[in-house]
Amino acid sequence: MNFFGIFTQDSGGDSSMLLPTILLIIFCVILFLAVIIGVILLLVYALKKPAPPKKEATYCANCGTKIIKGASFCAQCGAPVQENQEPPITK
Ligand SMILES: [Zn+2]
Repeated sequence: MNFFGIFTQDSGGDSSMLLPTILLIIFCVILFLAVIIGVILLLVYALKKPAPPKKEATYCANCGTKIIKGASFCAQCGAPVQENQEPPITK
């Protein structure tokens, strides 16, 4: 017939369940963060993996005009186009 004792016991039971609950919440938070970090790393890796295609802009060795990729001759002067031609240094 000790209502306070029962109340205290119930309260004690709650507090004993408090620690595992907190640990479970912490575990869930860590798991959540781990998943988010994993997704971020995956996204970064996925974004990095497809290396951006090098803009192989071709310039005419004769007149310096930018040449459309695939063209064999310069549209400006008609000179034959060489692959990987560096842009002319113009100051
Ligand atoms: Zn040209």
